[in-house]
Amino acid sequence: MKYIIANWKMNLGIRESVALARGTLHALQGKEKVPEVVVCPSFTALAEVRKTLSRTRMFLGAQNVGPGRAGAFTGEVGVSQLEDIGCTFAIVGHSERRSLGETDSTIGKKLAGLYETGNITPILCVGESKDVRDAGEAEKFVKKELKDALSGLKIGRRRKLLIAYEPLWAIGTGKPASVLEIVPMQEMIRKVVTDITGVDGADLAVLYGGSVDTENAYGFLREPSIDGLLVGGASLKIHDIHAIIESACEVMTAQESL
Ligand code: PEP
Repeated sequence: MKYIIANWKMNLGIRESVALARGTLHALQGKEKVPEVVVCPSFTALAEVRKTLSRTRMFLGAQNVGPGRAGAFTGEVGVSQLEDIGCTFAIVGHSERRSLGETDSTIGKKLAGLYETGNITPILCVGESKDVRDAGEAEKFVKKELKDALSGLKIGRRRKLLIAYEPLWAIGTGKPASVLEIVPMQEMIRKVVTDITGVDGADLAVLYGGSVDTENAYGFLREPSIDGLLVGGASLKIHDIHAIIESACEVMTAQESL
């Protein structure tokens, strides 16, 4: 299985979000083998986008989640509320949230809240800065992020976990990481996550994110160790997200016939 996660960030009103969700859905029409496509609108548009997605093969994700199911957290949206609105995925620990002060301890609480019940799969984002990579410390840094977020977490049997490797220097810069930089990191992530959590096989997916576009998506997706893509800017452009989903369909069809 390949995943395409569309992170619309702090963009689009309700009507525009519904239109983009409808447009994105068209990319799946008539295809037999399709990736799991997850659209992540702003909280304000979740309810309406949910209606558009009902009885389709596309999924609804949140860009963030509060630190637990419910309670005294002014301004946060809790796990129960996301379940109520029909989310089945939630991004956790995106670098844009970490840069606003989100700590490893908060990320751990968010993951624990999501695993308390069985409805929402976390998409945990990790990735190093340019300075860290230049210092040759990228793998060490990402390993620590994984340990801090996942140690002690109780993940029930058959629950899924998605990890998105998103180097900070590649997000929104037009300068994606190369396959040669991504693949060893993916392999390390898979091993470390399995060692810490026991989650493995089809329950664990390791994605890449950072300046994915129509030109580079196929090259990433055809790598067996890259289970999918987290797409920011390009997911807001209907032509681009179609082409990226199309690449995933092509790769999946080609890999099936091997
Ligand atoms: C992101 O939102 O996580 C992201 C990878 O953005 P972009 O594709 O624009 O680099």
